[in-house]
Amino acid sequence: VQIRCCTAAGCLSSGSQAVKDNLEESVKAGGLEDQVQVIGVGCMRLCCQGPLVQVDTEKDPQGRQLYEQVTPEDAPQIIASVQGKETNLKQQDLQQPFFTRQLPIVLENSGKVDPERIQSYIAAEGYQALYQVLREMKPSEVIEAITKSGLRGRGGAGYPTGLKWGTVAKSPGEKKFVICNADEGDPGAFMDRSVLESDPHRVLEGMAIAAYSIGASQGYIYVRAEYPIAIKRLETAIRQAQRLGLLGSQIFDSPFDFKVEIRIGAGAYVCGEETALMASIEGKRGVPHPRPPYPAESGLWGYPTLINNVETFANIAPIIRNGADWFAGIGTEKSKGTKVFALAGKILNTGLIEVPMGTTLQEIVEEMGGGVPDGGIAKAVQTGGPSGGCIPASAFSTPVDYESLTALGSMMGSGGMIVMDQTTNMVDVARFFMEFCMDESCGKCIPCRVGTVQLHQLLTKISEGKAEKADLVLLEELCDMVKHTSLCGLGQSAPNPVFSTLRYFHDEYLALIK
Ligand code: SF4
Repeated sequence: VQIRCCTAAGCLSSGSQAVKDNLEESVKAGGLEDQVQVIGVGCMRLCCQGPLVQVDTEKDPQGRQLYEQVTPEDAPQIIASVQGKETNLKQQDLQQPFFTRQLPIVLENSGKVDPERIQSYIAAEGYQALYQVLREMKPSEVIEAITKSGLRGRGGAGYPTGLKWGTVAKSPGEKKFVICNADEGDPGAFMDRSVLESDPHRVLEGMAIAAYSIGASQGYIYVRAEYPIAIKRLETAIRQAQRLGLLGSQIFDSPFDFKVEIRIGAGAYVCGEETALMASIEGKRGVPHPRPPYPAESGLWGYPTLINNVETFANIAPIIRNGADWFAGIGTEKSKGTKVFALAGKILNTGLIEVPMGTTLQEIVEEMGGGVPDGGIAKAVQTGGPSGGCIPASAFSTPVDYESLTALGSMMGSGGMIVMDQTTNMVDVARFFMEFCMDESCGKCIPCRVGTVQLHQLLTKISEGKAEKADLVLLEELCDMVKHTSLCGLGQSAPNPVFSTLRYFHDEYLALIK
């Protein structure tokens, strides 16, 4: 019997370490060490009900039990349940849509493997894809497979991954680099943090496969300092992989060398923008610079550089293991595979979900998320963080894919999904995101540095009921100016929440006008 205790940040913050310690003590006290194994695992996805503990018996896979809000004092009862005794512990129904509608590819090991033991990852087919690639595939064949799979970058823009890899592979340079962007900073988003805390080797394996295909031998993971558990687990994972010869020189006795180093960000949201991120790795101030040149041609220290985010790299090993056609068979025509979302806000089931592209917002919010608690009504969903927009409930039948969300004036973004109910004031929502962009603007270009401040002032004036109709016209004009003249994505997309709330909730603005 295996007792899995969640040790990702969410459950740890509600005391899961003490739960795990007590479970281990109870096993010892009962002399059950031969029959019961307690392991720390990553995120079990239903974060709002933590600490979560799952009991699995080999004999009866249907007999799995997921205990919620477990306290350290519950440990003896959980051990008693393993011995077939009745308990009155709170359990989650594993057959509810929150779990059954998910299709875990990126999260396939999350909540199952011990993120601090490489053996646990290897036992779950870990590093098999890297082995397969080094033994059986030429670099061009790997790129072909990724292209054929239809995988698009999960960091936000949705650029075809195979195309990006192919461009870096073709770019001349004595050295090339691979960077994993783990500078997740959107309010409400915690997908990448969770993947790194739950299954760090999967990201390293994806990076190694990418490095082999483009001809790089050095990789960097740029991770934010606010993610200490992810950083610690990545450090452990890198050390373990090096010790087993899965990172470093002559991996799997091939001529392929690949080393990975961690670079810790200092909390600037703009460092998630790729040119700012590279400047930060180079030891410079993390501010964006104009593109072209693109990193694929001239990136880190002027060498061709491949940048993908955590979730993109986490998709690579399963694509190699199961084949490009398998992956291309999931999702919609233009958006293949699955997407991980951090479901948050006014919703019953808060946590992580991974669903096939094309799943509708209705299915996510009402079925999987369980709707708004206490009989509330969902009014809108905010996707894409400060660069995204608010989608009204009337458009909840929209399938979630790159094109559909963009057509609605929002975007996929990295995967934050915040549900708002009927009590939410949409002007305040727009003001909140504008305040975020204003605070995070690096100040390099005037339209963003000054424009976001002016937009924030205007939104404050409107929400305080002091604005006139002409201010609404000015608001739109200013939004247009900031969008079209800012240097990087932060400024260019800062007006998006204003545009979308103006489009769908215009009445709420008008109601506040003098
Ligand atoms: Fe900096 Fe904003 Fe200009 Fe980007 S748009 S370079 S964040 S000031």
